[in-house]
Amino acid sequence: MSTIFSKIIRGEVPADIVYQDDRVTCFRDINPAAPVHLLIVPNKEIATVNDLGEQDERLAGHMLLVAKELAEREGIAQSGYRLIINCNRDGGQEVHHLHVHLLGGHRMGPMVLRR
Ligand code: AMP
Repeated sequence: MSTIFSKIIRGEVPADIVYQDDRVTCFRDINPAAPVHLLIVPNKEIATVNDLGEQDERLAGHMLLVAKELAEREGIAQSGYRLIINCNRDGGQEVHHLHVHLLGGHRMGPMVLRR
């Protein structure tokens, strides 16, 4: 597996990277759905939440803590934000490299469309 996100992590494709460490890379979404729209991506190639294992417990927690830190840095911690992880077809996942969306900067709409 080598997704567009792996290429961004390796520096082969440009992106607006806002944070990177040995476990995660975070960059601005190319097609933002809110004034702040960041993606928190594990450097390790994990396709979906379904593919997380026990060995990834600390990594998954780190992703949440980095998201919290970035919300603070972006100035949206107090006004609020939404974290989203899409999984597979029904979840609307387009890029099969696990990522957390951090969205904020205005009022989010309803959590999901009811039908
Ligand atoms: P998802 O539907 O959860 O898989 O979300 C994938 C997200 O990746 C979408 O919001 C896209 O706009 C975003 N995206 C795709 N390619 C890039 C890219 N090259 N740089 C930044 N964001 C991207």
